[in-house]
Amino acid sequence: MDDRYSRQILFSPIGKSGQDKLGSKHVLMIGAGALGSGNGEVLTRAGVGKLTIVDRDYVEASNLQRQQLYTEEDVREKLPKAIAAEKRLRAINSDVEIVPVVGDASPDMLEDLVVDVDLILDATDNFETRMAINDISQKYKIPWIYGACVGSFGMSFTIIPGKTPCLNCLLKRIPIQGMTCDTGGIIGPAVQMVIAHQSAEVLKILVEDWEAVRDSFASFDLWRNQYTSMKMGKAKDPGCLSCGDLQEYPYLDKENLSRSTVLCGRDTVQIRPPRQSELNLGDLASRLVKLGYVVKANPYLLSVEMDEQRVVIFKDGRGLVHGTKDMSQARSIYQRLLG
Ligand SMILES: [Zn+2]
Repeated sequence: MDDRYSRQILFSPIGKSGQDKLGSKHVLMIGAGALGSGNGEVLTRAGVGKLTIVDRDYVEASNLQRQQLYTEEDVREKLPKAIAAEKRLRAINSDVEIVPVVGDASPDMLEDLVVDVDLILDATDNFETRMAINDISQKYKIPWIYGACVGSFGMSFTIIPGKTPCLNCLLKRIPIQGMTCDTGGIIGPAVQMVIAHQSAEVLKILVEDWEAVRDSFASFDLWRNQYTSMKMGKAKDPGCLSCGDLQEYPYLDKENLSRSTVLCGRDTVQIRPPRQSELNLGDLASRLVKLGYVVKANPYLLSVEMDEQRVVIFKDGRGLVHGTKDMSQARSIYQRLLG
């Protein structure tokens, strides 16, 4: 497929040399939901060298309306999103090295994953992970692209350590914490608009066209026909603990990591295991079946049906307790199953 990238090479800001650069770069994408699906597809088709995809969830029916990489078969198989994304992206472009990681992007995991990474792409749906990405980006001087959407509204900002303000600086200007996906649903076009803003920035940075990189905070509302672009140069705070004079990286502090989290927009609580260790899912499944539970399993996770709740347990020991937002109830259900 010699002419696979011909149209992109014809685009003069990229050209042959830009295409070669793209093919030598490694992007770490955190999240493989709606933003991760679209960004992953754009970058894979564009011919990025290597794409590492981290996601902690599996494909469900309610994802299909906007998460463009996934199919009904992925829902039936309960495939982890990182694995389903890898399968689809490999079929699109086998030249790209795709590395799926089924797990939670904790500070520890980010430390391991950022080796050799040229750029981090935010495709998460939560504040805790974004702030950890922000700190890891400052610590290792890796650019990252923030993106978020809810309803018909979306926003994006490009963060280059040593040059732009960071997300922690921006918090003093923009109420980003309040952006969660459970407030008013979401429409596909808002997702696509954020993907366009993020992936264009990724291409500019990977081909090293630094002049072209957007230095404003972009936001839009597609239903209300509103588009804004705010200059952020003055937002950089010398006292910022992430990017300022005294860099402490507060969000990489494991003490601040919560053991359980209510997942974005769902009656689901994620429980992190007390220690990092790989579970033997086969052994666990047969023990639970003997106890009378109905268990479904694939190589990556097992799902246990209970009266009111459904619990999914991953190989890394994480549990997703569906059907509740009560963290202590979720923790006791998780402990009962894992004994
Ligand atoms: Zn900062």
